[in-house]
Amino acid sequence: MGDWEAASLSFEDVRVPDRNLLGEPGGGMELALNWIGQKRYVIPSRAAERLPGMAVEYAKIRKSMGHPIADYQAIQWQIADSQVEIESTKWLTLYAAWRSQQGLDARHATSIAKLHGAVMANEVMDRVLQIHGGLGYAKELPIERWYRNVRVWRIFEGTDEIQRRTIARNLLKGHATLGSIGE
Ligand SMILES: Cc1cc2nc3c(=O)[nH]c(=O)nc-3n(C[C@H](O)[C@H](O)[C@H](O)COP(=O)(O)OP(=O)(O)OC[C@H]3O[C@@H](n4cnc5c(N)ncnc54)[C@H](O)[C@@H]3O)c2cc1C
Repeated sequence: MGDWEAASLSFEDVRVPDRNLLGEPGGGMELALNWIGQKRYVIPSRAAERLPGMAVEYAKIRKSMGHPIADYQAIQWQIADSQVEIESTKWLTLYAAWRSQQGLDARHATSIAKLHGAVMANEVMDRVLQIHGGLGYAKELPIERWYRNVRVWRIFEGTDEIQRRTIARNLLKGHATLGSIGE
């Protein structure tokens, strides 16, 4: 669906010098899971502020029924909602990154940022395409490609469902409290 190509790697008789060993022998999976968990906020941090900017510019120049479509409340609300969602993702992402940088447990904050950012990016992308009408769907602009590429954000580095599971488990087991995303 997106611009992704799967690669198949195989290793045979590979010897890795001790100095290049990451972690302890036999601890690779734990290391990988720890890395994935800590860096999930990278996904929403990609949510480009450029997207609503494109919608704003197009809404000002595209005319329908004698007026720029920016004059219509239906368009204005889509632009406003997109800005709100991008700002909220930005702060959730910065908070998760700050916790990680401070050496604090960032897993709960990261799951929240990743879930919100991935869902939000897809909603914003859909609105940007919608505001561009048929042109948004056509290949002349990069929007349809971004639309396809952004979809995978809800799947890799932990699906939406797995993030929700993590968040709920943290709350149910008392690892996090409602109203706090990181204590
Ligand atoms: C383009 C692309 C790039 C990728 N890159 C990488 C990469 O670099 N490294 C890497 O390790 N992986 C990568 N992946 C794999 C990706 O992480 C997995 O596709 C993802 O974790 C989902 O696993 P799955 O496809 O096996 O789906 P499944 O685990 O089969 O899940 C199917 C559905 O069931 C849901 N589900 C599964 N378990 C539960 C549960 N316990 N509770 C509720 N719902 C559940 C899922 O959320 C999903 O909706 C990539 C995938 C894609 C598409």
